[in-house]
Amino acid sequence: MPDVRIQNGIITVAGKFKSGDPAPAGYLDWHEWAEAQHKSGLRQSECGECAKWFYPQELSGKYVEVKGRTPKLIEVTYKMCVCEECDAAMGRGESA
Ligand SMILES: [Zn+2]
Repeated sequence: MPDVRIQNGIITVAGKFKSGDPAPAGYLDWHEWAEAQHKSGLRQSECGECAKWFYPQELSGKYVEVKGRTPKLIEVTYKMCVCEECDAAMGRGESA
């Protein structure tokens, strides 16, 4: 339930988003939606392609392998999830 600041105080309006809902397009709606996701316990993961952070319902379910190094410089390969946008771009043969 987001609080909305008005000239002489704050009103609380009923939240229109539930846990697991798809992300809305509008900027203000997105923040309200993200708050609902976070409060329900969902957490964001970093996309292995574009390095932006996404809630689980925005991820494609696919993974890419990323090479990195530990603090002791041991080379490791790990899997990172891919967001739907990058997955679609990869499907079209573009790089994000
Ligand atoms: Zn991405």
